[in-house]
Amino acid sequence: MTLPRGIVHVEQLPVEGQRVFVRVDLNVPLTKDKERKVADDSRITAVLPTIEHLVKRGARIVLGSHLGRPDGQVKPELTLEPVAARLAELLGQEVVLADEPAGDGARKVVGDLREGQIGMLENLRFHPGEEENDDTFARQLASYCDIYVNDAFGTAHRAHASTAGMVRHVSQKGAGYVMAKEIDILSRLLGEVDRPYLAVVGGAKVSDKIEVLDALLDRVNAIAIGGAMANTFLTAQGKNLGKSKVEADKLAMARNFLRKASEKNVTVHLPTDVVVASGLDAEDSQIVAIDEHPGPLMALDIGPATVEAYRAAIARARTVFWNGPMGVFEKPRFAAGTVAVARAMADNRLALTVVGGGDSAAAVVQAGVADRVTHVSTGGGASLEFIQGLELPGIAALAAG
Ligand code: ADP
Ligand code: MG
Repeated sequence: MTLPRGIVHVEQLPVEGQRVFVRVDLNVPLTKDKERKVADDSRITAVLPTIEHLVKRGARIVLGSHLGRPDGQVKPELTLEPVAARLAELLGQEVVLADEPAGDGARKVVGDLREGQIGMLENLRFHPGEEENDDTFARQLASYCDIYVNDAFGTAHRAHASTAGMVRHVSQKGAGYVMAKEIDILSRLLGEVDRPYLAVVGGAKVSDKIEVLDALLDRVNAIAIGGAMANTFLTAQGKNLGKSKVEADKLAMARNFLRKASEKNVTVHLPTDVVVASGLDAEDSQIVAIDEHPGPLMALDIGPATVEAYRAAIARARTVFWNGPMGVFEKPRFAAGTVAVARAMADNRLALTVVGGGDSAAAVVQAGVADRVTHVSTGGGASLEFIQGLELPGIAALAAG
């Protein structure tokens, strides 16, 4: 593994006997019932390697995370209690939860830690200083540790007290296993890649992704577009999409993008057929060619001819970055295009295959191929900012002198 930008891997840090603050992303979904249990523990299992490494080395571990959006107020329903309980279960070891993110209770929990023991601060966003990146709060957090480790890639694009502010008040810092792998693999997409380099981009809106699309134009050989955003591009080319979701105010943006792509010799693949239906919950659907008028129906997935073309493009590529579902994959009737893209990436054993984006990552898991692509990024927004070549505050902080 190569970590650019002068970042130290947690394995290289002298953590024995030291108090190590680990910023983790334990922002897990909870069940809606009164019990509020952890509904999906994949974010907890993701950080186990870093925690287990620190336990084995005899560090005194202080975990910090946010959960939900308490907006700087104590919201009892957003306590990290169920998360700490699940983590303890997974580790087979006690995890002591402080009753506040900072203050006397937190200091006491941290002060009592012996080597190899784990404490967890209460939801960092219970304190307004977290999202405001307030320096007093940042110094308080920094006072709980000798060494800082960030393993929360998903929040690295936010300059908060626990991701950025506190880091300059700690002398030694490094990246945990999750963070290091994200930086390692996503950086490869910004360097010299094996070609052809294909980007597959879909999802809801052109306006959400235009910066990503623009940045990709400077790096890729081809872009395959799907999802609702394809409707806007097709409309910009004069096609009639019936009642499909189209961003009528983004047609000029779409045309401008297509012109830049052709100037830069980047091939743009657009759907040649789509799956149309009367709505998301329709009982039936049809396939129509893009040149046919779909009448009062809406395009909700790419069609089989498009799937075949995208599959072939993915098979030819030696680097593939995918963001954004090809259709309304949450509904089985409109999931075929998205599942086919996921499988095609998994089937290409010669390419570096990377998936970024919250819904796309969920789709890869749904398609059952998460372990057959090179990397599924744990960060939605963070991975998109990274591949645009933007500086992420949480990563910049790890590198700064
Ligand atoms: P990601 O989280 O991977 O970046 P987005 O959030 O941009 O992806 O887009 C995902 C959403 O786009 C999904 O909820 C999906 O249902 C929706 N979507 C995809 N294709 C269509 C379509 N043709 N019409 C309506 N919604 C769509
Ligand atoms: Mg999304």
